Amino acid sequence: MSIRETILKLKEELPSGVELVAVSKFHPADAVREAYAAGQRIFAESRPQELYAKVKELAAVTGADGTPAYSDIIWHFIGHLQTNKLKLVLPYVAMVQSVDSLHLLEAIDRWGRENGRVTDVLLECHIAAEQTKQGFSGDEVKRILSGERSFPNVKFRGLMGMATFTDDEAVVRGDFGRIRDLFLAVAGRLKDFTELSVGMSEDYRIALEYGSTMVRIGTMIFGPRVY
Ligand SMILES: *Cc1c(COP(=O)(O)O)cnc(C)c1O
Repeated sequence: MSIRETILKLKEELPSGVELVAVSKFHPADAVREAYAAGQRIFAESRPQELYAKVKELAAVTGADGTPAYSDIIWHFIGHLQTNKLKLVLPYVAMVQSVDSLHLLEAIDRWGRENGRVTDVLLECHIAAEQTKQGFSGDEVKRILSGERSFPNVKFRGLMGMATFTDDEAVVRGDFGRIRDLFLAVAGRLKDFTELSVGMSEDYRIALEYGSTMVRIGTMIFGPRVY
């Protein structure tokens, strides 16, 4: 199926209120343009330098009337973000979905104070069984959202998680069930804390059953990545 056909099929399949985030990492700007032509507007990248390069490449493209052709693309960042890379990312994204440490949260807040911007973030939760997956525990999320410390230049918009990489659907359901329960436990406390970003190419249909409001889909749209 072409990029266009997959986008159109996904848009038809996703319930209203669920955002499709097209994960374009490792694919060229031309693939983004193809998805854009099919109506897709939200894209996500996971490496600072790659995001920056794609943003700049697309910003240089003008339409027939000479105005920028892709100025309404909305970028999300979904990868591990080192604090020395903030300036490659924060000026260009509407949301950082992958805030996975207090250190990063503090750095984003500080950057916002220095640059006069409030950044929308999701807290990345450690829901998978594997030890290697980064992110906060449920208790850490509750603590951060308790308001005992304030982050005036950050707006908490919700949670992000990745299920265990496995064919065992019961394990995936367990992971999604835990993050949904955490989301429901904390969502009522904060204004605009409305997003539960779970579900990727292999498991987005299951994620929808657990209340996902944002699915992050790469391979299904753009094909396999060549690393
Ligand atoms: C790469 C990536 C995705 C997309 O994964 P696919 O399996 O290609 O759909 C989603 N979320 C995150 C955090 C990723 O790094």
